Amino acid sequence: MLSPSLEDYLEEIYRFSLTNDVVRVSDIAACLNVSLPSVTNALRKLNSEKYLTYKKYREVVLTAKRRKLGYFLVERNSILRNFLKVLGSDCNIAAEAEAMEHYLTRPTIRAVEYLVNFMHENPECYEKFRDYTEKRKNNITALIKSESYQP
Ligand code: CA
Repeated sequence: MLSPSLEDYLEEIYRFSLTNDVVRVSDIAACLNVSLPSVTNALRKLNSEKYLTYKKYREVVLTAKRRKLGYFLVERNSILRNFLKVLGSDCNIAAEAEAMEHYLTRPTIRAVEYLVNFMHENPECYEKFRDYTEKRKNNITALIKSESYQP
């Protein structure tokens, strides 16, 4: 079981490898906005647990088996971002997806994915949901504005 931080490294390495032939320590440091020593430290751990191969001053290579995990990690992040969009949450979607992703189990991620897909495939249901949430938001705003409201 990887720590949330190592999961993020693996996720970013996989994401970067999709559009770049070579992944270097400096690339990952730039993507995650962390120091080179932090990246090196994480890569050593991932290397010792056979998630990837990494030797000093060489490129980073994900092992074939772990590419699947990388794929899942990138997909999971995108499912959760889409979920937050579907919810219409007034949050920082990227930050909230980052916070949620490490604590949900695979079955829950799949269930969330089905819900998101269901909403996309059934625009009439999605429309009803949007109307409902809009009404709720407006009611709460009206309630807060009314003098009778005591928090
Ligand atoms: Ca992440």
